[in-house]
Amino acid sequence: MIPVKFDYVHAESIQQAIKLLQESDGEGKLIAGGHSLLPLMKFRLTEPSVLIDISRVSELKGINKEGDRIVVGALTTHYEAANDPIIKEYIPVLADTVRQIGDIQIRNRGTVGGNIAHADPAADIPAAAVALDAEIEMISEDGVDTMDVHSFIIGPLITALPEDSIVKSVSFQIPPSHTKSVYLKYFHPASGYPVVGVAAVAGVDKDGTIDYVKIGVTGVGDVAFRAEAVEQTLLGQKPTQALIHEASKLAAEGAEMGSDLFASAEYRENLCKVYTERALSSVLL
Ligand SMILES: Cc1cc2nc3c(=O)[nH]c(=O)nc-3n(C[C@H](O)[C@H](O)[C@H](O)COP(=O)(O)OP(=O)(O)OC[C@H]3O[C@@H](n4cnc5c(N)ncnc54)[C@H](O)[C@@H]3O)c2cc1C
Repeated sequence: MIPVKFDYVHAESIQQAIKLLQESDGEGKLIAGGHSLLPLMKFRLTEPSVLIDISRVSELKGINKEGDRIVVGALTTHYEAANDPIIKEYIPVLADTVRQIGDIQIRNRGTVGGNIAHADPAADIPAAAVALDAEIEMISEDGVDTMDVHSFIIGPLITALPEDSIVKSVSFQIPPSHTKSVYLKYFHPASGYPVVGVAAVAGVDKDGTIDYVKIGVTGVGDVAFRAEAVEQTLLGQKPTQALIHEASKLAAEGAEMGSDLFASAEYRENLCKVYTERALSSVLL
């Protein structure tokens, strides 16, 4: 549980962090909150020669409304996101999600950018990210680029972040104001990570017909996904318990369920359906 020897340096700006990454020749790692990276280093699953601490880089902070999106600086901690008035007003499902991450110490140090960049298949934020059509803003010496969350997270602990780049912010689309939302998670009893986590955002029009529904699911497979078959079944219908029950049976459609010591693929698939039904019942009935 002791990491290999490494150097440690604080970056004071994005420009300096990029330069340090380039100088490390692929051997350096950015560190933000350190709550995912340090455990990996202690298990020697990653052995960076230098840690580049970006936690003082003010350009990576801040939460702003820009048009129809909320832009969350990469260094925003889970605690800040859970309590921010802009997030609570416009994208409450993100606040609901991050307040259920780990414990108070984790939420005080862990960051939204780090959570997305780490691409843990059991992370909570990707559920809200896919339900809110998140886009990842990346910065390198070539400038700024954006990528949607599905293109960015490509596998367990694997992202499409180009070499010597930094996640600058994550932006989330604001759903229509008449929608309601919830994040429900089945906590792993030991780690607190989700065995399944479902973020649902949905609403009905003035005639009582479902006109908006987006469902993000995390924890059950390699990457978070949208339960699109459920969404398609619900759109244009009047919400009833029977309809939601039937639609939720499609929650795992097209997704590959993981299987491990904690939960078989069949169990995960069942959790997926049950938590989707509970989440939809809470926002639509
Ligand atoms: C006991 C425990 C319980 C936890 N429980 C949960 C849980 O229930 N749900 C959950 O979702 N998470 C959980 N976590 C993980 C926690 O949320 C992490 O803090 C978070 O996933 C990573 O954020 P970080 O800022 O700590 O990233 P770090 O550990 O600093 O970095 C993680 C990875 O992301 C990279 N990185 C960080 N920031 C950037 C950036 N701006 N640009 C590019 N790359 C970057 C790093 O190089 C590294 O590879 C838990 C962690 C612990 C230790």
